[in-house]
Formats: sequence, structure tokens, C-alpha cells
Amino acid sequence: MKVPFVDLKSQYLSIKSEIDAAIGGVLNDSGFIGGKHVEFFEKKFADYLGIKHCVGVGNGTDALFIALKVLGIGAGDEVIVPANSFIATSEAVTLCGAKPVFADCESDTYNISPAGVEKAITKKTKAVIPVHLYGQPARMDEIIAIAKANKLWVVEDSAQAHGAEYKGKKAGTMGDISCFSFFPSKNLGAYGDGGAIVTNDDELAVKARMFANHGRKEKYNHEFEGTNSRLDGLQAAVLGVKIGHLEKWINRRIEIAKLYGEELGESVIVPFVMDGARHAYHLYVIQSQRRNELIGHLKNDGISAGIHYPIPLPFMDAYSSFGHLPEDFPVSNFLKDTIISLPMHGSMTDEEAFYVIESVKKFA
Ligand SMILES: *Cc1c(COP(=O)(O)O)cnc(C)c1O
Repeated sequence: MKVPFVDLKSQYLSIKSEIDAAIGGVLNDSGFIGGKHVEFFEKKFADYLGIKHCVGVGNGTDALFIALKVLGIGAGDEVIVPANSFIATSEAVTLCGAKPVFADCESDTYNISPAGVEKAITKKTKAVIPVHLYGQPARMDEIIAIAKANKLWVVEDSAQAHGAEYKGKKAGTMGDISCFSFFPSKNLGAYGDGGAIVTNDDELAVKARMFANHGRKEKYNHEFEGTNSRLDGLQAAVLGVKIGHLEKWINRRIEIAKLYGEELGESVIVPFVMDGARHAYHLYVIQSQRRNELIGHLKNDGISAGIHYPIPLPFMDAYSSFGHLPEDFPVSNFLKDTIISLPMHGSMTDEEAFYVIESVKKFA
């Protein structure tokens, strides 16, 4: 038996007729850029989250970059980001001319540590970007309180957290502005690149939409320079179909996580879920002291596992000029050698899950 890490093909086959019709519809009315397919999805996604505005953009990295730009962040500013994330989070800060400042993560949730955020604040700090890593919301109550006390913007990186919740609020609705990615393997994924910015702030929403479309509201009347970063009609149509299945897929992820958790809790460290959190399990990350051996063992059994992420951001070559040492981020530095992501997706079968469970148990 082979268990893939994600299975986009089986997901497509399960909704093939709906997807094919939606794509055919876009081709039929040539709604490639902007237009009704994009508007339809933006409205659906905003309603799903319970937020006022959704602006579709080209990808999740652009969503972060544009969000920071419309908040006025630029040269001379600092933005606090987690040490444990995908590089897009810190890259967006550098892209707008500011400096990313890293904060260590928590040893239980693996999310950005509120104490680490506090420690990283300087006179130049303008914003903090909590990432809802692996699909579990960061400790938003504490982060928002720290941000308020220090007059910082809160930009949520919700790229891994479609459908996650914290104390009854959806991830992406707790900060000033929030960014999503629709990269194909994300919980809600397009068939190419896509992203969105969401906010309850009318002015930020208008600015973000303009920035993503060359700084204009109308054709050839450009109020400022922006960029070209738009969600296209084909991707919007795919997402418009998939969002109707999102809850079912997330609930399936939660069921698989429950099976994993019940069966593997004695053998490895399974994910810790905060009180009041709905973990959307974009990734199911466990810890093992013999991580590399475990990956090899799973591979021999035909099971694909991953590491998210093998190198914490401050230790990447891209940031070597910052001169960070392992002891600056002790938790992230420890986790980089123990974390492993097991196969997890919304069309996974019980049979596949039990095959993974047996393989991990055999190893342990
Ligand atoms: C995927 C991801 C992004 C970037 O999204 P793209 O659409 O690939 O640009 C940003 N942040 C995190 C945490 C991600 O996982």
C-alpha cells in the first residue's frame, strides 16, 4: 500500500462534474480576469469567515506584501514574525522595505510565542504577523493585547488555517487584516496560484483592491502605483466549487487527527490543541526523538512524510547577515530535529490512516 502526503487527484475525482462545469463556464463567457466568478467567490469566502471584505489576489505571498503596504509599512520599520514558518511570512516584510524580526515559537502549539513577541518589540516595530501554523490559531488574545498596548498592527498569516477557529472566531477575522493562500495543497486550494486579503476595515479593503490592480479604481486613472496581483476567473471558479465542500473536508481532517491521536499518543508526541481552538489540521505534526529514522521507516512502508520546517527562518542562508545563533531561538532550534508531518488530507480513508498508524507503532 502507498499513502501519499496529499492526494489532489482523488479530491478532484470526487467533485469532477462540478469542477468541469465551473471551468467550462469561465471559458464560455471568457471571464478570465475579474468579473462574476471572482466576485462570487470573494463574497462566498467573506461569508464563510464572517468578515466584511475579501479581496482576491495572485497568491498568499502577495496577500501578505499588499497587506503590509496598505498599512503603510516600509523602510525603517520592523515587523515581528515567527522563527518557525514558511519563508513567505518574512519575505513579504523585506519585499515592502521593512525588516523582519523573529520571535521564537511555543513548545506546545509550535505557534509564535507571545512572550517572544514582547521581547522583540523596539521603537521601530510597526506590526506583528502571527502565523496560524499547521492549522491551529496562534494565541490571538495575548498577541492582540500586546499589539494594542504597543500600538502595533496585527496581520494574520492564515495561509494554513482556512476553517480554523479560536474562541468562536474564525482564523483570519481576529487581526486588523488577514492573508490567505490558495496554493493547491492548502486546506482550500486552487488549481494554480491564488490568495486573498480579508478585513473588516472598509478603507484597508479599498486600498488593498486598488494596490493589487495597479493603484486604480477605474481603467487608466491610477491614483498611486501598486502591482498586478489578481485572483483569476478560472481559479475563482474552482475555489467557488471547493468552498462548498470545505467544512466536510476539514471535519474529515479532524476525524483522521482523532484516529492518529488516539492510536499514537503513547508512541510519539501528538499535536496539542488549545482550549477553545478548532485545529484545521492543514498539517499533522508529531515529534519523535528519532525523526530521520522514522521518515526512512515510513518511506520503506510506502508512506510519504514531510518536515515543516527543517530550517527555522533565522538560520536560513537568506538571513545569514542577521547573525542569529541557535540559542537565540531555542524552541525552534530543538523542534527542527524532532518534528515530522504525517500524511493528512480531506479525502484520506480510514484504511490509509490505520496503515500509517501501524507503521509508526511498529517503529516505536
Ligand atoms: C503557503 C504559505 C504562504 C504563501 O502562500 P503562496 O500562495 O504560496 O504564496 C504564506 N505563509 C504560510 C505560512 C504558508 O504556508
